Amino acid sequence: GKNEGKGQYRFFDPALSNTLNTRARLKQHMLEAIERDQFTLYYQPRVDARSGELLSMEALIRWRHPELGIVSPGDFIPLAETTGLIVRIGEVVIDKACAQLAAWREAGVALVPVSINVSPKQFQRGGVQRQLSRALSRWRVPANLIEVEITESAMMGDHDDILAELAALRALGVKLHVDDFGTGYSSLSQLQRLKMDVLKVDRAFTMELGNSKEGKVFFQAIVSMAHALGMSVVAEGVETEEQLAILRKLDCNEVQGYYIARPVPAGEMLEMMQRRYLL
Ligand code: C2E
Ligand code: CA
Ligand code: CA
Ligand code: CA
Repeated sequence: GKNEGKGQYRFFDPALSNTLNTRARLKQHMLEAIERDQFTLYYQPRVDARSGELLSMEALIRWRHPELGIVSPGDFIPLAETTGLIVRIGEVVIDKACAQLAAWREAGVALVPVSINVSPKQFQRGGVQRQLSRALSRWRVPANLIEVEITESAMMGDHDDILAELAALRALGVKLHVDDFGTGYSSLSQLQRLKMDVLKVDRAFTMELGNSKEGKVFFQAIVSMAHALGMSVVAEGVETEEQLAILRKLDCNEVQGYYIARPVPAGEMLEMMQRRYLL
């Protein structure tokens, strides 16, 4: 009819009002989860592609829900982003990562850097650098033990707020990773200008490695350009021995994925830190 799309009947649509209701409830649950300390971090190792030595790790958030069990970030991060709750959840992540580094230090193990995922929304709201400085001094952790992952797509265009936060983090001594590289349209020279340290090539390209000549050629081109520009390359989502063998030939620096280890709770990560060589 004439009025379709104008939106005045929207709230009488039962499916939509259901959705709104669910979203509002999920948001409320997330707020409670912060207060009840239900968020936790899992850790996934990144190793030297040749030697298998543990070089760093990624912190990945999980929600320990009393009824639902472990909830994956894919099920709540998108809503956390649209509601702005990601700023508070992000602060929890920063604090927990620093607290965990301090706990591992107490356990007497050799520390390696932990990278955390930061959403564009957190940069837009500002304060990431301030939250991080506070957590680093609270837990007496040096800044070079925390690294920040930001997706390639979040860096596209000239978002002044994001650029300013990246510069502030860099000034703090934090290394910057380009996450999901290959899925956006940034140029490598742009990334170099932003002084990004590490390119994390998206899992989709790792999956292609064993399947096609083109897959290898693409990866090879990324590695040589990144190296020429002084950036290091991590392959994400390495699941097979064959992929690892190809990545070694292509001179990829570091690998991360189920073939090496799944993301695990801090206690299991401690064992891997003690073992140190994971391949
Ligand atoms: P991401 O940053 O690209 O993280 C990699 C995802 O791939 C993780 O899923 C990891 O468990 C999974 N993965 C690792 N190795 C393999 C593999 O060999 N095969 C396959 N199939 N998957 C692998 P996860 O933990 O479910 O996280 C999903 C996404 O949620 C992350 O993607 C990231 O975008 C977001 N996320 C996770 N933790 C945080 C956080 O603390 N803050 C924010 N803002 N986002 C987060
Ligand atoms: Ca990531
Ligand atoms: Ca990624
Ligand atoms: Ca991703």
